[in-house]
Amino acid sequence: MEILIHYAGEVGIKGKNRPFFEKKLLDNIRSSIRKIGYKKLKKTYRQIIIEPNNESDIEKLTNKLKNIPGISYFCISETCDLNIEEIKENALKICKKLNPKTFCISTRRSNKNFNLNSQQINEIVGKYLIDKLNLKVDLEKHDIVIFIELLQDKVYLYTKKIQGISGLPVGVTGKLIALISGGIDSPVASFKMMTRGCSMVLLHFHNYSQHSPEVKNKILDLAKTLSKFQFKTKLYTINFKQIQQEIIKQIPSEYRMVVYRRVMLKIGEEILKKENALGFVTGDSLAQVASQTIENLSVINEATKFPIFSPLIGTDKLEIIKESKRIGTYEISVLPYEDCCSFLVAQHPATKTNLEEIKKLESKLNIKALVEIALKDLEYREFMN
Ligand code: ATP
Ligand code: MG
Repeated sequence: MEILIHYAGEVGIKGKNRPFFEKKLLDNIRSSIRKIGYKKLKKTYRQIIIEPNNESDIEKLTNKLKNIPGISYFCISETCDLNIEEIKENALKICKKLNPKTFCISTRRSNKNFNLNSQQINEIVGKYLIDKLNLKVDLEKHDIVIFIELLQDKVYLYTKKIQGISGLPVGVTGKLIALISGGIDSPVASFKMMTRGCSMVLLHFHNYSQHSPEVKNKILDLAKTLSKFQFKTKLYTINFKQIQQEIIKQIPSEYRMVVYRRVMLKIGEEILKKENALGFVTGDSLAQVASQTIENLSVINEATKFPIFSPLIGTDKLEIIKESKRIGTYEISVLPYEDCCSFLVAQHPATKTNLEEIKKLESKLNIKALVEIALKDLEYREFMN
């Protein structure tokens, strides 16, 4: 058995970038399955093929491949030489194993040199199965479809296409700093950017003195879960306590949320530079909470000159929840947790702050000193896929 991987359409159509995208995908797959091991991993014209060490590894490999951005779908395949007799025998073997009553065949011939065309192969193999096992062809309602793919040097036969997450391979577009809270949205935002080829470095601000140790574990678990989708995930955590105390002292409660987030960006810039990243990612979704009005987001985002990507800006909460369940972060995100941003803010924070006003309030803070304090209390961890 071999695994035939079809990469997402986008990877294959990127013109001059195509070899780079394909190589990145191959590298990402190689890194992800290195611990399981394999006999062969290679790229053919438009597919990637894995030959496992043994069949018992296929489930483990499947679990890895399902989470690698850039893979459209993959198929656990029987393989044989480019020979119609062998194709017939392998189709027969599959049917004997699955025992269907009805079937249909779908042949794809990337190798145009083979002496039979797709239609002829469908007919010859179909007739053979009908004769041998007394099966019926049903093009509409069938128990199985036998897919036959003729590549350059081998034929692949399979009955199931296992869906991948598509998108682009992580690492082809650039590195970003993801502002990760303990909530539902920011992990989903990070995932979305990974599927657009970004490698994500996570940054979290905490005020653990307010919370139990479970809160810390929650962020570690989110980072671990997100690391399923990229080879290496770096997590920076910063103690926000002292900074927060200073903000609480100087800034009226209805403006604190906006100022917390502006200061987070200022501190984040230092991590961004250290990592040579190109911008930030946040989980903001327009008008979901008070900090996410157009006015407040404009004031928050003005704190940095680096671009901020908020891929969920136009997504409603139900959709975000659905996605977080799919990627496995939901169960972690809903554990009890109070984000440090919500600490001592007004019950009704200002929804329409303006920049002049916030800058005037901020002039009471020594932001440069606050950034330095933050960087002194920086923790760093790595999670490998
Ligand atoms: P989330 O579900 O991601 O927490 P939210 O809808 O609850 O988002 P806020 O809590 O206002 O909204 O946060 C908006 C965004 O600000 C978050 O998605 C995240 O990117 C960033 N953010 C908020 N708190 C923190 C924090 N403690 N550390 C790092 N980033 C944060
Ligand atoms: Mg939140």
